Amino acid sequence: MIWLRLLSDGWNIPTQIKADVMESKYRGANLDFESSEVKKCVRDLKEIDFELAYLALLTCEGLKPLSRWEKPLDDNGLELLRQTGLLTKRIRRTVKTGKEVIETIFSKLPAYLGLYEQRFGNRPIDKSAQTQRFEGFLFGYPPCCINEYIRKPYTPNNFGTEDQKILFHWACRDCKITVVLLNAYKSIYDLLNSY
Ligand SMILES: [Zn+2]
Repeated sequence: MIWLRLLSDGWNIPTQIKADVMESKYRGANLDFESSEVKKCVRDLKEIDFELAYLALLTCEGLKPLSRWEKPLDDNGLELLRQTGLLTKRIRRTVKTGKEVIETIFSKLPAYLGLYEQRFGNRPIDKSAQTQRFEGFLFGYPPCCINEYIRKPYTPNNFGTEDQKILFHWACRDCKITVVLLNAYKSIYDLLNSY
């Protein structure tokens, strides 16, 4: 989508690249989705949890700058994420009772892992508006949706249940950004289902 917009804006792109972009369906910006190694790795992630594989692909493709996995994940799971080209980190948090919780975060961008760790490492889990804003920024949520969610969570929107289900944020009523994001999310979701 971005490429096509750039092309129509008159950027000087070599002809061969233009042809490749025009004929491609969804090949992914980074991962080679046709490679058998990538397929195996994604299938293995799917076996652990579909949502983990989905988050990994969304993050690999840059649709989410950073993702967080809150369920336990062993070294094998971590290694699979690394094999898709993601950087990973385990973050120790605490809950109100003082109990320790280990989160796994992953991103292609070391700075984002650093930002998360700096802000949340060894800190209690909290749901303040400030935290939700910062998490939303790291997770790639549209600011309009974050604000609406903080104001009033789960306000009815004009997105279908099926569409809302494949998102990780609650879309604001007539969200223009979500409409665009949704197409990209759908491509990844469908791809994952085809594996
Ligand atoms: Zn929105």
